[in-house]
Amino acid sequence: MLTDYHVHLRPDDEDTPPERFFTAANAERYRVVAEERGIAELGVAEHVHRFKQSLEIWQHPWWRKWARDDVDDYCAFVREETDLRLGIEMDFVAGREDRIAAFLEGREWDYVVGSVHFVGDAAVDLEGTEWEHVWGRGDRPERVWQRYFETLAEAARSGLYDIMAHPDLVKMWGRQRPQPDGDLRRYYDLAMEGIAESGIAVEVSTAGLRKPVGELYPARPFLEMVLDAGNPIALSSDAHAPDHLGAGYEQAVEVLGDLGVGEITVFEGRERRMEPLG
Ligand SMILES: [Zn+2]
Ligand SMILES: [Zn+2]
Repeated sequence: MLTDYHVHLRPDDEDTPPERFFTAANAERYRVVAEERGIAELGVAEHVHRFKQSLEIWQHPWWRKWARDDVDDYCAFVREETDLRLGIEMDFVAGREDRIAAFLEGREWDYVVGSVHFVGDAAVDLEGTEWEHVWGRGDRPERVWQRYFETLAEAARSGLYDIMAHPDLVKMWGRQRPQPDGDLRRYYDLAMEGIAESGIAVEVSTAGLRKPVGELYPARPFLEMVLDAGNPIALSSDAHAPDHLGAGYEQAVEVLGDLGVGEITVFEGRERRMEPLG
């Protein structure tokens, strides 16, 4: 079994309205590519910030820029016009756990993908002049990484999520941003305090291969720590177009095989089960 759950039906671009992308025909384009690539379990997880109801959780300028669509229309579309699993990529916003829970509770997800894209108000993976960026404040890389991995622990521990997405996203820029020196496991340890305790499924994401860093998320030493703790693995590409589906999976499956992972997680109605990998 191969899965791709962390999938977006459209690029993160302006002019990507739901009437063009949340259609049975577009879902079918994804299903066709997934079938060609041997991916039987396919689901979608649109970014929360694309929905106007996200502003009930957080009024960050980045969210206010994007929040336009109706989340219940999205859920109805996925359920009624596609055979895809229904998920959402839900940011962790510290201090807004109750509002996130209220947003999630009213809707029938198959799974919820939890992401840390912001440390406090500062974005990890976005550049722009209208919002703060983690690298724009003159903090030392040690401080940025520490806060990022502490936030990841908090997200896992919140119990809001089924899958922890792109666990070391902070490395996304590769050499374009400063990185702490030495053995990075001291940062992964900070996250593991929450991840191990929560039992959350941890995403192995091939999206990092498309980014400046050019690596899988998470780094192999981090993945080893996740496996030592006994957390299960979820496999996804973070596709934003049909051709991204399953991209880089040979590499991901090889690494997982090397580390003795024989099973991956499958979700339905927020219930988790394990299926053989491959
Ligand atoms: Zn993400
Ligand atoms: Zn995503």
